[in-house]
Amino acid sequence: MSEQERTFVMVKPDGVQRGLIGDVISRFEDRGLKLVAAKFKQIDRDLAEEHYGEHEDKPFFDGLVDFITSGPVMAMVWEGQDAVRQVRGMMGETDPAESAPGTIRGDLGLDLGRNVIHGSDHEDPGSNEREIELFFDDEELVDWERVDETWLYE
Ligand code: UDP
Repeated sequence: MSEQERTFVMVKPDGVQRGLIGDVISRFEDRGLKLVAAKFKQIDRDLAEEHYGEHEDKPFFDGLVDFITSGPVMAMVWEGQDAVRQVRGMMGETDPAESAPGTIRGDLGLDLGRNVIHGSDHEDPGSNEREIELFFDDEELVDWERVDETWLYE
């Protein structure tokens, strides 16, 4: 088995309200990724502003913070080989309208500001660790083995 990696994923308020949590989780489970933490929670503005801090100067920042705090989210950590990049690939492009069918945003969304899911950025090394730490305590990350791991990896 090659080196395992963890990535932070969040079903955003639109995905929760639209009943898409199960669909999103199924895609990652079916792919062979392993869930190591999950938390259904209402984000407050401080956490939202910290999580999206890189965008604080952007015109869409206030609307983004309003949106992400507008209802509960499903925050998760998924583990697997090359997990950060693979999850980004499964998510599609930032804009659902530009996302290929078969991707989460390409199958489940239409609008840039309502794109269903967040996932750590593989082009921003360390963002996965930062985001995991922001949402989870160390003891909330569960070390366990999937029974099919020997069939998923050479
Ligand atoms: N976003 C937006 N308007 C924009 C660009 C981004 O509302 O013009 C939102 C969108 O929800 C996106 C989030 O801001 O998911 C963070 O943007 P980023 O570029 O980091 O995209 P992501 O990593 O989510 O694909």
